[in-house]
Amino acid sequence: MKTIYLDNNATTQVAEEVLDAMLPYFRDLYGNPSSMHTFGGQVGRKIREAREQAAALIGAGPEEIIFTSCGTESDNAAIRSALAAHPDRRHVLTSRVEHPAVKSLCDHLSRQGYRITELPVDKDGILDMTQYERALTPDTAVVSLMWANNETGVLFPVEKAAELAKERGILFHTDAVQAVGKIPINMKATSIDMLSISGHKLHAPKGIGIFYVRKGTRFSPFLIGGHQENGRRGGTENTPSIIGLGKACELAARNMDAENRMVLRLRDKLEAEILTRIPNSRVNGTRLYRLPNTTNISFEFVEGEAILLLMDDYGICASSGSACTSGSLQPSHVLRAMGVPFTMAHGSIRFSFSIYNTEDEVDFVIEKLPPIIERLRSMSPYWNAGDQVCSVQ
Ligand code: PLP
Repeated sequence: MKTIYLDNNATTQVAEEVLDAMLPYFRDLYGNPSSMHTFGGQVGRKIREAREQAAALIGAGPEEIIFTSCGTESDNAAIRSALAAHPDRRHVLTSRVEHPAVKSLCDHLSRQGYRITELPVDKDGILDMTQYERALTPDTAVVSLMWANNETGVLFPVEKAAELAKERGILFHTDAVQAVGKIPINMKATSIDMLSISGHKLHAPKGIGIFYVRKGTRFSPFLIGGHQENGRRGGTENTPSIIGLGKACELAARNMDAENRMVLRLRDKLEAEILTRIPNSRVNGTRLYRLPNTTNISFEFVEGEAILLLMDDYGICASSGSACTSGSLQPSHVLRAMGVPFTMAHGSIRFSFSIYNTEDEVDFVIEKLPPIIERLRSMSPYWNAGDQVCSVQ
């Protein structure tokens, strides 16, 4: 059975060019980049090249790029560094819809006595900037707001938010794990101090990330050890993955416009057909400020997990809530924060595209999904009670 992979916000296929770039550094070129000899030195040169490729994708300087083990590490490093840089401040400002990499850390910090403000979002997943401004206080050590939401694709105005933080001397971090490689980013034109990237969301392998720290930002390392990454993250470099991520960044910078046009067309086709063919379905999150590859659709009166299982029988991969929360029967914290009605939140499915998807795959999903929903609704006591006439906004 062919796999139809529409779960690219969970992880992506490693690009062929990325794998090709990595392989020699597993097999032959295994030297330690810190070694004095030529054998290691050639690996060191390749890491410098990867740093430049990564920096170019986000309009940063290579000295502002720190390679980490994942997006989660980058998020943790950013928030903890900011707190260490301002030991006198005890407040962290974030939102209710962050990924667990930020949210769980903030819960942990709250138990340690920090004051955490989680800003609400409206029914479209949009942040209230007036409330945001009011929540910035002299005690705020750091703001951490995601650039793009992993479940809905909704974009936060992080550039504006960073300016407002900067005016007040507050450090600003953004979790850009879902944004980098999907929307153009130019750090030179922003006031963002710190930014997180994860390799496996942009066709590089799992287990590699980037922590961007603006030059001149007060910084305290998360992993203390050797002199690697300019003394900002100890630990021998994950050389093949760093080199792979550099290649993935180069590809993203070169192909982003064309790829975005392609995934946008596929995403919009799937979305429009689903909304037309399946009654009581709706898109969660604003359709105005959104990643081009993501749609989050609710099917009223059915369980998301049941939809996933029946789609899986056809090889169709998607997520209910997010990959990190599927397996739990609670509606996702993101949809709850948006006030999505319970009967809708439970039946939400995220489809997320990449350049490896095709129109045939979209057509296949459009053919298979309506009977799946019909079948599940025929078993739903709520649907059969005549509730299908209830209004859908
Ligand atoms: N932040 C966001 C928005 C994500 O979507 C993810 C992964 O799903 C992460 C952080 C964590 O990244 P990683 O899996 O590299 O730790």
